[in-house]
Amino acid sequence: MTTLIRGCRPWGGTICDVLVRDGRIAERGSGLAAPDGATVIDGAGQMLLPGLVDAHTHLDKTLLGTPWHPHSAGERLIDLITNERRVLSELQLDPALQSRRMVHHMLERGTTRIRSHVDIGTDIALRHFHGVAETRETCADLAAIQIVAFPQTGMMILPGVADLMEQAVKEGAEVIGGLDPVGIDRDPRGQLDAVFAIAGRHGCEIDIHLHDLGEMGAITIEMMAERTAALGLKGKATVSHGFCLGDVDEKRLEGLIGLLLENDIAIATCGAGHYPIPPILKLRAAGVRMSAGSDGVRDAWGPLNNGDMLERAYQLAWHGDTRDDPGIETMLELATQGGAQAMGATDYGLDVGNRADLVLVAGETAAEAVCYHPPREMVMTGGRIVVENGVSLLEPI
Ligand SMILES: [Zn+2]
Repeated sequence: MTTLIRGCRPWGGTICDVLVRDGRIAERGSGLAAPDGATVIDGAGQMLLPGLVDAHTHLDKTLLGTPWHPHSAGERLIDLITNERRVLSELQLDPALQSRRMVHHMLERGTTRIRSHVDIGTDIALRHFHGVAETRETCADLAAIQIVAFPQTGMMILPGVADLMEQAVKEGAEVIGGLDPVGIDRDPRGQLDAVFAIAGRHGCEIDIHLHDLGEMGAITIEMMAERTAALGLKGKATVSHGFCLGDVDEKRLEGLIGLLLENDIAIATCGAGHYPIPPILKLRAAGVRMSAGSDGVRDAWGPLNNGDMLERAYQLAWHGDTRDDPGIETMLELATQGGAQAMGATDYGLDVGNRADLVLVAGETAAEAVCYHPPREMVMTGGRIVVENGVSLLEPI
């Protein structure tokens, strides 16, 4: 498959043509000739972005494709968790089907790489994990998917969960997760020791949901840093959400940033919501690796997230009251290069030789594309066009 995209502007820069051959970016330049049999796309001077990256979502739990389900949870974290388990057990959805639906939904919005936390618990064992692992396989040509073994209902408070999580890693989960070691388990030492030991044994990455605010969250980051250093896992750990970073005072924040940098611990943020979020521009300026994600999309936690990473970049800017162009562009970087880096991608971006995951979108600059987050005109994944003239070519599921 050979495709020539004529007259596009990579990342909003100078207009050029981009030739895609065998799933890779083969050439960039002006006035490129279309090889025989090539598909030619008129870029119409639009921006060409690399495939968007959703570095924090939950493919297994979306209600997409099912009748509207009114939101019924209470406000506390534990209410949301309990309500979700009830809704999912009532609806008896198939995690393989639901995750496939969501991968298609995200692709149609330009996302080609996804890190998904997947629930593991004593009630569901590895059912969700096996479902998403099946989707990772069936959608392998369409999207790169990483699975995080995630203890949504707690880890140390439910004997057996840690073993199930390790089993998931043995069966191919790329990342071991965790959840509020203080707030949910009330056993930070126990949970973090177990998570880091699994990472040490299997060489996988670590990605821990940390909603805990203030000192509870700050101490958890300190304890993660201690274990990262002790086990030689520098560069392997991510804190997802990290609300505490937007909640502690300046002095405390400086100390935590120092620990993040020393141990190369990354931050994944989802932005929207009523919680404080990490100060993105400050962390990035300090050199902390950052990525962005949708979190759950139309699930029992709430119906508002829609899985559009360009819109997510807008929400990150909105939430942090970021108004200047470089700041807004930074949010798009989190939803592209930042996420790709978090997932360890080595063939990502708009340079020649990289996998042809490409998105055409209206907009003069990155900031404008984020502000208006218009529909994607074209989406290509691995050289295959899945959205053309704004219309999805994927089979409806
Ligand atoms: Zn999450």
